[in-house]
Amino acid sequence: MNALATCPECGGISKWNPPFYVCSVCGLALRRQEYERMVDKQKEALWEAQEEQNEGTDKKRKRNREYLDWYLGSKK
Ligand SMILES: [Zn+2]
Repeated sequence: MNALATCPECGGISKWNPPFYVCSVCGLALRRQEYERMVDKQKEALWEAQEEQNEGTDKKRKRNREYLDWYLGSKK
C-alpha cells in the first residue's frame, strides 16, 4: 500500500493515515476503498477525454453546443 497518494479532488498529496487517506491540501479524507473508487472514476474520465480528442471532436463539440443552445432556448 502506498503511504502517499494523489488527492482525486485537488491533486494534492494525500497521506495514508489509517483508515483514511487525508489530503494535505484540501483536507479530503477518504477510506481506501472510496479513494480507489474515485481514482478509478478519474481515470475513466481522463480516458474518455482522450478518446474524444482522438476522434477530433470539433464537430461533436459544435453539435453539443448547438444542442445546448436549443435546449436553453426552448426553456425560455
Ligand atoms: Zn485534496
